[in-house]
Amino acid sequence: MADASTPDHGPVFDLLCQLIARKSLTPDDAGCCELLEARLAPLGFRFEHIDHEGVTNLWATLGSGSPLMILAGHTDVVPTGPLEQWISDPFEPNVRDGLLYGRGAADMKSGIAAMVCAVERFLAAGPLRGTLAFLITSDEEGMARHGTRHVVEVLRSRGVKADYAIVGEASSNENLGDRIVVGRRGSLGCNLRVLGKQGHVAYPHKGDNPVHRLMPALAELVATQWDTGNEHFPPTSFQISNFHSGTGANNVIPGEADVIFNFRYCTESTADSLKARVHAVLDRHCPRYEAQWWHTGEPFLTSQADLIEAAVASIVAITGSKPEFFTGGGTSDARFIAPWGAQTVEIGPINDSIHKLNEHVKIEDLARLSRIYEGVLDRLLR
Ligand SMILES: [Zn+2]
Repeated sequence: MADASTPDHGPVFDLLCQLIARKSLTPDDAGCCELLEARLAPLGFRFEHIDHEGVTNLWATLGSGSPLMILAGHTDVVPTGPLEQWISDPFEPNVRDGLLYGRGAADMKSGIAAMVCAVERFLAAGPLRGTLAFLITSDEEGMARHGTRHVVEVLRSRGVKADYAIVGEASSNENLGDRIVVGRRGSLGCNLRVLGKQGHVAYPHKGDNPVHRLMPALAELVATQWDTGNEHFPPTSFQISNFHSGTGANNVIPGEADVIFNFRYCTESTADSLKARVHAVLDRHCPRYEAQWWHTGEPFLTSQADLIEAAVASIVAITGSKPEFFTGGGTSDARFIAPWGAQTVEIGPINDSIHKLNEHVKIEDLARLSRIYEGVLDRLLR
């Protein structure tokens, strides 16, 4: 990317620009993994493609035995939204006022680029103890069924045991390294259809209005305190994301009402306990309904010390301050890696522009993030 006319922003910046220029909308990897392999091959990494259902999954390893440290990330990005509202083409890296703009700049091609450069420096400086691995997928932003989840299933079935994992998702809040993610809430959703009987609004006794049955049930669900959280997690939250009923005519009692709702739940509740409590409410208000549940992640919490201690020490050495431990926010592939038994943390750039128009990352943070990763490797794999 750099030529005589552009300032040198360093190797992480250069690799990140090359990644942003690959238009890798889920589940298209768009050549990102090929680029990463070209960087990792000279270091001695062995590659295995665990591709699945059109998703590109790269498992790259170096060394042998334990501990096994996984550096995990996704090459896919979310859609751009209206192009005319971007200050520049989202797939042409663009520098303005110390920021690098492009889709994936923060979520999470910068994490991947910083990890690759950290590994290059780490290996140049001395021998590796144990195994270092990259787990890279192109299906994180979509349904995430055929990406990391699949790779972990395959590796677990072979008896591979993971000790540590760093996921390079954008975890920082206002300043680089001010926050790391040490756990995530679980996610449980439901497509609910309440069945009634269609009729004329003038003859309500001949119909059965599902909206009237659903409203008190929803009011109760919205008002319920599911738990109060704990020292690591905020309380479980319930949110309705979709509500639909009616034929469009103003004189027809609808025959059914559809709702989609979602729980982000902490370790004080379980998917089964939440389902049971929802059904208890629905059973009281709605004689006939169909509930289709989808469970997309168990909650996890990394409480073992060594990875977190190494991460904190490395961040303090680079930034001068201690990170806050965070368990809120959306889901990530850490939900598939942590249940494998790996101590898992997410460390990455500032997340305020992820999934938004004009996604960007601070250029000065790129080399610092890479040094944070390198510091963790130094403390655990030397
Ligand atoms: Zn991400």
